[in-house]
Order: sequence, then C-alpha cells, then structure tokens
Amino acid sequence: FRCCSSNGSGEKERTLGIIKPDGVSGNYTDRIRKVILESGFHINKEMIIQLDEDNAADFYAEHSSKSFFTSLIKYMTSGPVLVMILEKEDAVAHWRHLIGPTDAGKAKITHPQSIRAMCGVDLEKNCVHGSDSHQSAQREIAFFFKETPPDEAVRKHDEL
Ligand code: UDP
Repeated sequence: FRCCSSNGSGEKERTLGIIKPDGVSGNYTDRIRKVILESGFHINKEMIIQLDEDNAADFYAEHSSKSFFTSLIKYMTSGPVLVMILEKEDAVAHWRHLIGPTDAGKAKITHPQSIRAMCGVDLEKNCVHGSDSHQSAQREIAFFFKETPPDEAVRKHDEL
C-alpha cells in the first residue's frame, strides 16, 4: 500500500473515522469495518452515538459560515453515527486515501475503489468522515473520546 509518505519510524498514528448516518442506516458498517481491518488499521475505540444539533455544529464549526452548513447539520443529526479511533502508521493520510474524495458522486468515477464510491451518494451524503490532518485528528478524537462526553464538551466550549 503505497499511497502516502512515511517518516519510516514505524510509529502508530491515530485518526478519527466516522460512519455517517447514511452509512449506518444503509447497513454499510460491516463492509466498511472489513475494509478498515484488511487495510491494516486497528480499531482502537468505537461507539455509536446520536449527535444533536449542538454537537454537530461544534464538530463542524470550521464550516459554520458555509452555505451548506445548515444542510450538513441536518444530515449529521438524521440518525446514529459510528465513531472510531483508527490506528496505524500514517493513519491520517491512509484513511483519507481509503475514503476518497469529498464528492461521492465524482468518487464513483475517479476513485471507484474508495469507500465513498461504495456507499456515498453526492457531495453532502458521502457516508464517512476522516480527519484531514494530524492536528484535526487530535482535536476530533478528544471531542468524542475525552472523559467528558460531547454534550459536556460543548457546554464547556460555550462557557469559554
Ligand atoms: N459538504 C457539503 N457540501 C460541500 C462540501 C462539503 O455538504 O460543498 C459536507 C460533506 O458531507 C463533507 C463535510 O461537509 O464531508 C465536510 O466538508 P469538508 O470540506 O471538510 O470535506 P471532507 O474533509 O469531509 O472530505
């Protein structure tokens, strides 16, 4: 598997993967988990959670001014999501490579082997999330898996 550069240290990295509501409701969870494990990731932790609007808006805060934000929040709260910490060397880049481009419709043409091509529909409903950098991964893992659950994290954030 030669998609991504490595510093050769063999050190494990963690990234956050989410199977979004359309992936969970479409029964893609087992197929996606199979791809994850066959690609050499260790699933360090996982949980199924129903995001509320505040959780989803906080998670996607960087997109709050975008025209697609309201629709994105509606989509992300439309049913349960499966949140996973994925671990392997170069996990961030490898997981982004595996999921494919944001637009699942285009992914079906340009990246037919990708997870988004397998289970996504379009630019919004793309069935999976992956952290886009090491820094994002650390923030996103803490968002879901620090001792404080998301509701509490959101409340603290609001109080700052
Ligand atoms: N999204 C959307 N319309 C857009 C761009 C993004 O609905 O024009 C949604 C899509 O579900 C995407 C998420 O917002 O996964 C976050 O967007 P980002 O650009 O961070 O893409 P990603 O990192 O998920 O590929």
